[in-house]
Amino acid sequence: MIEFKNVTKIYPGSDRPALSNLSLQIDNGEFVFLVGPSGAGKSTLIKLLFREQLPTKGEIFFNGKNIALLEKGALLKHRRQIGMVFQDFRLLKQKTVFENVAFALEVLGKSPAEIQEKVPLALAKVGLAGKENAFPAELSGGEQQRVGVARALIKEPTILLADEPTGNLDRGTSWQLMELFAEINESGTTVIIATHAWDVVDRMQKRVIALSEGCLVRDELRGSYHD
Ligand code: ADP
Repeated sequence: MIEFKNVTKIYPGSDRPALSNLSLQIDNGEFVFLVGPSGAGKSTLIKLLFREQLPTKGEIFFNGKNIALLEKGALLKHRRQIGMVFQDFRLLKQKTVFENVAFALEVLGKSPAEIQEKVPLALAKVGLAGKENAFPAELSGGEQQRVGVARALIKEPTILLADEPTGNLDRGTSWQLMELFAEINESGTTVIIATHAWDVVDRMQKRVIALSEGCLVRDELRGSYHD
């Protein structure tokens, strides 16, 4: 379970909080859309959860532990439980699809045998079986993002965090990607997606948390993008 308790984030040199006295709870296995205009604080929330940033005030608990207090080993373990997907895919251009996904396990020190076994399974899960030897530039945007999802999933995270994952995709491709996220969620992974894709949000009828100028302005269990 994720709990934000009265969390305020003020970046150094900024006079306006990026997040202001935010309290919310997300249970394990939920599917949540984070919506709100640019600058509302969505990415900041994601960065705080990954502990890429620390709150200025307040606490963030993950499964009962205050993540600000995690020591090095526990912090690595925390981050290992979180798979991240980015708007710009962040694939390594010189590496093949297989190598891009394998890299996520190599940095965790996994054995070549485990990597050989798991990478094809992760690629099959995202619908990319057979694309192992392609380079990112040879794939469509939707396929590149699926590589990004496979790379996130291969760590078997309990949470999948995606920041504008469909920002560079057309509508049809965006919808297919969201269906993939829904499938991943059905297998038990908590999914949190920051997005501007209002049509997808409206169609999915999932929990919607809306931020505006760093404040939580709406939290609905089966919500839409707009009020
Ligand atoms: P969103 O993801 O909803 O667009 P952000 O979390 O990126 O919103 O930004 C929230 C606010 O924090 C904005 O005013 C933004 O300019 C500011 N901000 C974000 N990152 C930084 C940073 N690294 N340093 C200073 N200000 C930042």
